[in-house]
Amino acid sequence: MSKLIPLLEEVRACRLCEARLPLGPRPVVRAGEGARLLIVGQAPGTRVHETGIPWNDPSGDRLRDWLQMDREAFYDENRIAIMPMGFCYPGRGKGGDLPPRPECAPQWHEQLLAELPDLQLTLLVGQYAQKYYLPEPGKTLSDNVRDFARALQHGYFPLPHPSPRNRLWLRQRPWFEEEVLPVLRERVKRLGAFV
Ligand code: SF4
Repeated sequence: MSKLIPLLEEVRACRLCEARLPLGPRPVVRAGEGARLLIVGQAPGTRVHETGIPWNDPSGDRLRDWLQMDREAFYDENRIAIMPMGFCYPGRGKGGDLPPRPECAPQWHEQLLAELPDLQLTLLVGQYAQKYYLPEPGKTLSDNVRDFARALQHGYFPLPHPSPRNRLWLRQRPWFEEEVLPVLRERVKRLGAFV
């Protein structure tokens, strides 16, 4: 019998780094046994913390646009698992939200992945997920994204963070929309019945 449901209950009760979380623990993670696509992002922002729904913000809207996917498909956890590098809102620093809590992924990711046997593709959204998962990460996030074909051999698709703050990054790299997004959409479509 799958241990996924009790494991998710355990995750949602996690208090491991409570002392470092300004708004307290509220782990945001979604997964169903049949998930074929996994999205590994950074950590919830305040809006996601409030609603408990991952990617429920302008970044999520852009990510769905990249994937050409509506909200219904995106939030079907039996098709898509969503597991950030840090499950709880980490607070703010000088330059914006703090990095994901470093305790989180080592504590939970491997256990969750063991209960998701049908995963075929993992989107690594942002530098933290790429550093953690890519077997040979490049020097920069741009290098990782540009070299997506190599990552795909390992089942990973590196992406920039779709935050509105990254507009400049996207404007300066037209190859992302022209060359990377069509492959991303084709790969996601291949997983079946997402749109
Ligand atoms: S960030 Fe992760 S490790 Fe820390 S309390 Fe939340 S779920 Fe637990």
